[in-house]
Amino acid sequence: MSLKATLKIRRTLAFRLTLWYATVFTVSSLVAFSIFYIIISNVIQEHTDQALLKEMAEVASILKSKGEGSFKAEMSIEAEAEGVGNIFFRLLDPAGSEIAATNMSSWKGIGTDSRALERVKGGEPSVFETISVPERMDKARIVYGAVGTGRFLQIGFSLEDDARFLETFRKVFVPSIMIIMVFSTLIGWFMASHALAGLKGVTKTALDISEGAFEKRVQVHAKGDEIEQLAVAFNRMLDRIHDLVKGLREVTDDIAHDLRTPIARIRGLAEAELNAGKSGDESKKLAADTVEECDNLLHMINTMLEISETEAGIGQASKVQAELTQVIGEALDLFRPIAEEKNIHLVSQLPDRVIIRGNIHGLQRIVVNLLDNAIKYTPAGGTVSVSLRDENDPVEIVVHDTGIGISEEDLPLVFNRLYRCDSSRSQPGFGLGLSLALAVARAHGGNITATSQPGRGSTFTVTLAR
Ligand code: ADP
Repeated sequence: MSLKATLKIRRTLAFRLTLWYATVFTVSSLVAFSIFYIIISNVIQEHTDQALLKEMAEVASILKSKGEGSFKAEMSIEAEAEGVGNIFFRLLDPAGSEIAATNMSSWKGIGTDSRALERVKGGEPSVFETISVPERMDKARIVYGAVGTGRFLQIGFSLEDDARFLETFRKVFVPSIMIIMVFSTLIGWFMASHALAGLKGVTKTALDISEGAFEKRVQVHAKGDEIEQLAVAFNRMLDRIHDLVKGLREVTDDIAHDLRTPIARIRGLAEAELNAGKSGDESKKLAADTVEECDNLLHMINTMLEISETEAGIGQASKVQAELTQVIGEALDLFRPIAEEKNIHLVSQLPDRVIIRGNIHGLQRIVVNLLDNAIKYTPAGGTVSVSLRDENDPVEIVVHDTGIGISEEDLPLVFNRLYRCDSSRSQPGFGLGLSLALAVARAHGGNITATSQPGRGSTFTVTLAR
């Protein structure tokens, strides 16, 4: 593997998690093994000490029953039975000088420890020490104790067997730790890779998208873990961005498409002005027409931008405590003269005070657009009613008219940008009012739905979260 690839792996989260797991697991095993080793060593030593104390009690009783003279003979039998290299017995006087001893050929150089002897003389029943045996690899456990008046016993016991046992334990210990290290690394790597596999999916999708595969989404398996939640949030974010980009593209397409007609008209007007020698009045009319077409264009462009901004969430920050009754009341005041002029009965049913958190300008746009449509598409003698229902959350604004209505095919399309039903082409408008109203309602956690019966009237219901 190249140096670059090695460095890359070292930087991965999976590598670091594996390293942590392997280290923690190996160190824990090491500590556990060490504690176990110490306990076993102590148990073995305890066992040896108990055996030595038992030997001492036996020797004391032999000395008591058979006398000092039989010590060498009696103890030599015992030492031969155990092996003269494994155990020795030595009877000492208070000065520490040997009175009698078993075969000491394997225990050359072993003297008496005057301090241990002093402690026994001081009253301690037994004193233990572990010493290295000269000219031998193993160690020995020595016990000193008093046997009768003015007589002391020294017993030595080889720790060779114990050392061999602990040596075997140590030999098992090192390869076991190595196996544990390898296994913990493998298990750690497996667990980390498994846990982070979902992240790879998110990264891969992000990379694919950056290379142009905008439709790609992270696969979700409904496991509900944290990475799955990240994937769901990531997909939701992508959907939202996709919708925004799509909306922007549609706006651009729509603008390009719908601006062609007015621009062609303006161009035609100007060309006609150029070609024909026109009178002063005719020129003024042409200029006025041009201004009107430009105003229309500006209005259209501004409304489209407003829709896009609302859909993108711009303006959320300017929400305040908005008094809905007042917003509707002001809109009604605005339309009353127009309704009267068209001989349309304008009625309303509004509670005293309804307050929601909203953008006042946006809320005005909703009410004005719905009222404008209702009056525009209702013939003389008809009725337009506005009611506000605040019993529930969301609150509801219902605008009902007895106008021309909308056909079943048109009804789902009226909220699309620039959509106008054929039946309403004679009326002024750009087909943007409802799109804007819907965008504002959605930005207020609400919606707009419409029901209609052609020839009998329409009802638009706006919901707005408090
Ligand atoms: P416009 O400026 O054309 O009114 P809108 O987006 O407000 O644009 O409405 C889209 C279309 O929906 C209108 O052109 C009209 O055909 C239809 N429409 C909207 N409101 C009503 C209504 N109250 N009665 C009948 N048709 C309506």
